[in-house]
Amino acid sequence: MDYIVFDLEWNQGNDGKEGEVKEIPFEILEIGAVKMNEDLAITGKFSRLVKPQVYHEMNQITEKLIHIDLEELEGEEYFPEVAGDFLEWCGKDCIFCTWGQMDLHELQKNMKYYGMEPLENGPMKFYDVQKLFSIGFEDGKARRALEYAVDFLGVEKDIPFHRAFSDAYYTAKVMARLDRSVFGNYSFDVFVKPKTRKDEIRIVFQDYAKYISREFGSKAEALEDREVMGVKCYLCGRNIKRKMKWCTPNGKHYYCAGYCDVHGYVKVKVRVKKSEDDKVYIVKTTKFISEEEMNKMREKRMKPKLI
Ligand SMILES: [Zn+2]
Repeated sequence: MDYIVFDLEWNQGNDGKEGEVKEIPFEILEIGAVKMNEDLAITGKFSRLVKPQVYHEMNQITEKLIHIDLEELEGEEYFPEVAGDFLEWCGKDCIFCTWGQMDLHELQKNMKYYGMEPLENGPMKFYDVQKLFSIGFEDGKARRALEYAVDFLGVEKDIPFHRAFSDAYYTAKVMARLDRSVFGNYSFDVFVKPKTRKDEIRIVFQDYAKYISREFGSKAEALEDREVMGVKCYLCGRNIKRKMKWCTPNGKHYYCAGYCDVHGYVKVKVRVKKSEDDKVYIVKTTKFISEEEMNKMREKRMKPKLI
């Protein structure tokens, strides 16, 4: 299996004359990628510009971040050709790796806009190297800029930042410095949601469990679902006693806790995520907590709005 580390540069609509096109808020102008083999040695490079078809003037903010001239793009091919070449170059047996969570999502959004086939029929496993860096070298929560990680690891800065290829290249360099033990922490892109109960994602990581549900017609419907609101010990797989009522600080995140006689206290967090056409889906995490954390949760009750 190959690792495809990629990065995109994109443009956005400006306020006023050329407003945002809802289906494609970010139009990809460049795809840069590095292919690494299982030993994390670089075996291939991809770098292509894209001739824009949606936004024909540079967004004021984007312009400062990336260093592409729109005139430079005149002789390039359109997105479907470039993306098609990119995917062919990637090959069939690969996993995508990006700095942060956005690129794989935006790649698929651009592909959908041009009527290309989806990359997968459901949520897609990938590596968020920004997250892996945090797990490997920091607290797992901080999210650093790519250049910070490069400096932190003392990677030689031999090409300028902020072009798709160079950022993919530096991301690959950071990835190659990571201890393999963090590679169990992959992420899921949910551009394509699970369609049926059977397609839902249920994963047990080293210290928590994750569930990504199918789509529901409404939040109310989701919050009635037994699996969404069930409190389980993921080690035993059994439903366990609830130790507090479900509560929510904001109507988007819901918290609960339970107790397993064998494994102890668990904290459950249910996040209601918006999908297309006013539908919702659920990302639920379950993790073990100490009795002290449990008591803190009870005290706080997150300004309870009980459901
Ligand atoms: Zn248990």
